[in-house]
Amino acid sequence: MSHKLYDITIIGGGPIGMFAGFYAGMRNAKVQIIESLSELGGQVNTLYPEKTILDVAGFAGLKGSGLINNLQTQLDTMPEVEQRVGTKVTNVIRKDDHFEIETDQATYETKAVILATGNGSFKPRELRADNVDAVAEKFITYSVRDLKKFANQDVIVAGGGDSAVDMALMLEPVANHVSLLHRRNEFRGLENMVDKLKASSVEILTPYLIKQLDEIDGRLQVTAKKLKTDDESTFMADKLVVNYGFISNNKDLESWQIQPALNHHLVEVNSEMETSEPGVFSIGDQATYPGKDTLIVTGFGEAPVAINEIMKRLYPDRRMPIHSTALHK
Ligand SMILES: Cc1cc2nc3c(=O)[nH]c(=O)nc-3n(C[C@H](O)[C@H](O)[C@H](O)COP(=O)(O)OP(=O)(O)OC[C@H]3O[C@@H](n4cnc5c(N)ncnc54)[C@H](O)[C@@H]3O)c2cc1C
Repeated sequence: MSHKLYDITIIGGGPIGMFAGFYAGMRNAKVQIIESLSELGGQVNTLYPEKTILDVAGFAGLKGSGLINNLQTQLDTMPEVEQRVGTKVTNVIRKDDHFEIETDQATYETKAVILATGNGSFKPRELRADNVDAVAEKFITYSVRDLKKFANQDVIVAGGGDSAVDMALMLEPVANHVSLLHRRNEFRGLENMVDKLKASSVEILTPYLIKQLDEIDGRLQVTAKKLKTDDESTFMADKLVVNYGFISNNKDLESWQIQPALNHHLVEVNSEMETSEPGVFSIGDQATYPGKDTLIVTGFGEAPVAINEIMKRLYPDRRMPIHSTALHK
């Protein structure tokens, strides 16, 4: 066991855990971030690094990878914040006046815990269709990590949610032709993005359900059923981007020794972002309260609330600065 006693251990190094680490560094907390993946950045880095994010305050639009690079640069200005990647937390145990954090690498001690574990581990919801396994490796992708790979290609994006709409629009200027195939006539994207979609050259294929996939002369043939009819159509493509959402597993927490109250697998918090377990806080997608929106900006706002509350309790004599200029050493 490491004998260092941390003030704060942040579990989860997604965008919210990264910003929380930086902010805790500004408060001179002894802090570590523990992230199970090999890189920080959470969903943004893993699932949509090429997507342009439009709703982060202060940026008229920046790529997911750009946001994570900026957060990393900001975090690195606090070299005393320890960043542990490739380390999965397997248990959090309450001791008399601190917590033990068990990981698959080592055990750490900390006075307070911030859960920033998002939706836990996540994976894309897979496409089910005849012959999918035979064509998957060559033609199907579940995320767009490198736009250049779609240059001059005919791409079908399957899905009808926010990120399917965003992906189709993101691919439009790069690809030769983009179609968006969805089983309903309506799309669930933000109104503004749906308007952009309608004004774009993206071909809308609705209401279709993919039935079968075949490789024909080195290209992908997508056979789809037109819903509420007996008609089937075939569409040819070089790539099929499936965007059916994600299946997340945040049940790990339920086997830990600490047992914060949950609401649909999310952690309930009060207005200080504290869970029902005293000393254990939660921020970002993992945390829930009435009116919560799972947005990056929401989580960014929650991080200082949790950290300032922890620091007030740990160091009641320290003056509470408000602005970053006053916080920086
Ligand atoms: C396709 C898509 C598009 C999106 N677009 C937008 C958008 O345009 N604007 C917006 O505001 N939001 C968007 N979101 C939502 C946004 O990505 C999330 O709100 C944000 O990622 C939440 O950040 P987080 O740090 O709370 O959680 P996450 O990003 O989920 O990060 C949590 C991290 O915790 C780690 N972790 C989990 N369990 C453990 C453990 N036991 N030990 C160690 N580490 C652990 C995970 O590996 C992960 O890296 C989008 C989401 C998706 C899927």
